[in-house]
Amino acid sequence: MSNLVTLHPWFEARVQHLAKLHNDGRLPHALLLHGMPGIGKADFAKAFAQMLLCQQPIDGKACGHCKPCELNAAGSHPDLFLLAPDEPGKQLKVDQVRALNEFIYSTAQQGGYRVVILNPADSMNTASANALLKMLEEPGADTLILLLTSKIGQLLPTIKSRCQHIECHPPAEHEAIQWLMNASDLDEDRAKSILHINLGAPMEALAYIENGLNDQRAQLVRGLADILKQRRTALEVAQSWNKLDLELILGWFYSLLIDAARGAVCETGDVIRQDDARNMLNAVAKKTNPVKIFKLADKVHEERKAILLRQNPNKQLLLECILLEWAALLN
Ligand SMILES: [Zn+2]
Repeated sequence: MSNLVTLHPWFEARVQHLAKLHNDGRLPHALLLHGMPGIGKADFAKAFAQMLLCQQPIDGKACGHCKPCELNAAGSHPDLFLLAPDEPGKQLKVDQVRALNEFIYSTAQQGGYRVVILNPADSMNTASANALLKMLEEPGADTLILLLTSKIGQLLPTIKSRCQHIECHPPAEHEAIQWLMNASDLDEDRAKSILHINLGAPMEALAYIENGLNDQRAQLVRGLADILKQRRTALEVAQSWNKLDLELILGWFYSLLIDAARGAVCETGDVIRQDDARNMLNAVAKKTNPVKIFKLADKVHEERKAILLRQNPNKQLLLECILLEWAALLN
């Protein structure tokens, strides 16, 4: 049996639409798949590439049995080019993009399409983006370049304007819960809770389980609650978080603040979805002006961005500063 990438059900309609464009000879030569992280964009791109390369696709899916499908299952199809930085989080080098030239402008070895998957497209710097631009302007025949990103704002306008955009959304909640339960050994309640922590993104939720992030998450929620209840000071909590992943923590903290702010703005119904912190967030929402919460959320967001841009902050100082403002929310 083959080892092809499975197309997630929530992307089936999109892929079928693309397959139809392909059958009608109207498939663009560059597609930009964008949307939040952890919703399966990479699998979408791979499943579509496998379908394009397959000799007898069925209903927008690769057959799994032909020669190209066998090559794809083995990860060795010569007409599929996966382009990514050497290490996650690093920039894509201009030489890596130039290496594409030969691939794109030669004849497909299996006589069909040539497909490039660039993931993440936001890893390009100006030089590598300019190198790619030339290929986007004059692509070879029967060539498809798939660009993937969860940070579309970081792409050059010239790149964006040469691709057809496909906005990817997370699946409906019931679909995501079902998928997560199949992929893990979680029961429904737990799957739902972890999905909410990960903003509805199923692959992100699975990575959360597989990487054992529960402990870090629990430390975050406990620390925040301790500060509000004055069981520990902001400085003590900041110190106890010394070993935690700062980027991760700030990302969670940001979405907790957004949930609290939504709770403060909406007076009706329960809008707070992250149930591991619901009581705390409800208390903050009830007692605090939403403007103050949004202000802190903005600050957390900015600090996180700075870390992602590899500016090296004094971790301790940064956490203390943010947690003092958190403590001040209820004063
Ligand atoms: Zn096939």
